[in-house]
Parts: sequence; structure tokens; C-alpha cells
Amino acid sequence: KFNTNVGQHILKNPGVADAIVEKAFLKPTDLVLEIGPGTGNLSVRILERAKKLICVELDPRMAAEVTKRVQGTPLQRKLEVILGDVIKTELPQFDVCISNTPYQISSPLVFKLLAMPNPPRTSILMFQREFALRLTARPGDALYCRLSVNAQFWAKITHIMKVGKNNFRPPPQVESSVVRIEPKLGKDRPNISWDEWDGLLRVCFVRKNKTLRASWLGTKEVLAMVERNYRTWCAMNGVAVDDSLVEDSPDDIEVDDADAGDDEDGNGMDVDDDDTPAFFKEMASNEVAKTKSKRKKTKVAELVREKIRKVLEDVTELADKRAGKCDENDFLRLLFAFNEEGIHFS
Ligand code: SAM
Repeated sequence: KFNTNVGQHILKNPGVADAIVEKAFLKPTDLVLEIGPGTGNLSVRILERAKKLICVELDPRMAAEVTKRVQGTPLQRKLEVILGDVIKTELPQFDVCISNTPYQISSPLVFKLLAMPNPPRTSILMFQREFALRLTARPGDALYCRLSVNAQFWAKITHIMKVGKNNFRPPPQVESSVVRIEPKLGKDRPNISWDEWDGLLRVCFVRKNKTLRASWLGTKEVLAMVERNYRTWCAMNGVAVDDSLVEDSPDDIEVDDADAGDDEDGNGMDVDDDDTPAFFKEMASNEVAKTKSKRKKTKVAELVREKIRKVLEDVTELADKRAGKCDENDFLRLLFAFNEEGIHFS
């Protein structure tokens, strides 16, 4: 009956359902968004405490179940069900988000919630245990990744409770955890562009166990992306770009990957870090065509390289550090130093 391909693991323990909804500290005026209501075990509890509940559900059978469950009761008029994929749905504004999250969408969901211009006051979300640990991982932890940095930069993340797999029907393969995400609001919200910050992190974490020097200067696609962004910045600021070729440069664009450091799985990319490898693969395929014909190095390419070297070695002195060990402050220093050089990531 349940489709585990779309993460259908119904919460069968009423105590856990109560606890999740309690932890949201709902006010009678709250508009709540629930992702994947399933048969409505959380939904009915939310409806009893909130002003309105909007559910987004992918499976029409489940949407019908939750609708039927409150039909003919006073809760009915407070419920709205949107049929669709929450990641692709344009969301209305809401105060609180509650979800026993289908694990396939954990990462895009967190990014979606964090990037909202008016994010919800609180989100209470059930995730696979390892994903929850990623959200709270600190520099140096094995699970520390781009998601950890982003989540903790934009929000306060609290691990609230562990939930064993036998609380679900059918039981999933791994244990789960409930976390609270409270976005930093007002003066606490970093005054930085989401795209700039995330763009910088994507490069740093392409190989989180390699040095930043290797990630930035040892990847053709990254150099091409930085050069492209630098050209855009020059065009917008009336700065001339020197496209002449560098004298006695080698025939091919040389990338120096020698200092790469240890790359645990040897494939050059950290496959565990959400969508970053896919992002760069796509970027690389876009760049190949452009760089093929350009076999000699241009002065601007050399300038960009020198700017990156200067930022990493002279200004921030972070060249030999690995992203997996860098904290928020290191990334902020990097971003400001790059911006000073006219290098942006959005
Ligand atoms: N809330 C219910 C509970 O706790 O018992 C069900 C939770 S179940 C883990 C996840 C639910 O999310 C399923 O009903 C599934 O159909 C739905 N779902 C899966 N992917 C979705 C998506 N992309 N957008 C919205 N709902 C989705």
C-alpha cells in the first residue's frame, strides 16, 4: 500500500507524533505548512492547534486520505491540500513548517527553506539520522559539508529527538532524528547574498579533503567559472579586459593539481555533498566547448589565477587549509577577499 520510493514511511507511534507537534510551540494564529501529510497523523494534531494548515503532498492517494480524515469535522475548513512536489511548488508565506520528510528531498528542502526571503519562524523536521548529523556537524567532523555550513550560517539548528525505525510503517532502513531549524532573523540574519555565499561554498567543497589551493587552482571548470564571473564584473564596472595571449605560454592550459593532498576516494570530488558534483559536472560540460578552441592562455586568465592565488596565499593565508576544517569565519574572510578583487559568485 505504501510507496517507499517516494519515502512513504507512516509514523505509527502517536507519542512521537504528539512530541513533534508539541516541539513546534504552535500559536492559535499560526499558518503551518506540512510536507507530505501521508495519512494525516501529524496533520490532525496540527489542525487542532493552528489557525490553518497547508499540506503539500505528491501522491494523490495520500492527498485523498488526509482530506477524507477531516471531512465532516470542524477541522475541515482549516485544511488546504496542494497536490504536487514541494520542491517545485511555489510556497505561500507561512509561520511554521512541520514535516516527516521523505528522505529523497531532505537536502533541497532545507536549501529551499533557508533561501526563502521570509522564512518560517520554526521548522520541525524529521530526517534520516545521518542527514540530521550533517546539519549540526562542526568543522573537522567527518560529516561536515556544504550543507552544514549553509544551515548553520543562516539558521540555528537543534537536534530535538531520536526516533527509532520501528516507529514507522513500513520501517525504513535507518534511524531518524527530529531537528528544529530557526532561521536567523532581523539583525541576526547575515547581510550577504545567498547566491554569493553558496557559490563560494560550492567551490570550496568540491573536494572538501583537499586544500583550498587545489580546489580553486587545480580545477579547470572552477578557473573558467571565476574568469567568466570576473569578466561580467569588469563589463559592469567599465574595467578593460586584456584578452591578448601570454607570451611563451605553453600550448595547453596547464592546471596544477600536484599539491592536491589526500583525496579519500580518489575521484576528485566529494560525492556525499548534496548536489555539488552534479552542479560542477554540468558546469564542466558547458565549459568544454568554450575552452577547447582557446588553447593559449590569455592575460585575463593569468590575472584571474593570480588574483585567486593572492586571496588564498597572501590575504587570507588559507591556501593550505581544507574546506572540511574551515569555519564560518574562514569562509567569510574568503568571500570578502574575493569580492575585493572583483570576483563574485552570483
Ligand atoms: N506525514 C506522514 C506521517 O508522518 O505519517 C507521512 C510521512 S512519509 C515519511 C512522507 C510523505 O511525503 C508521503 O506521504 C509521500 O507521498 C510524500 N512525498 C514524497 N515526496 C514528496 C514531495 N516531493 N513533495 C511532497 N510530498 C512528498
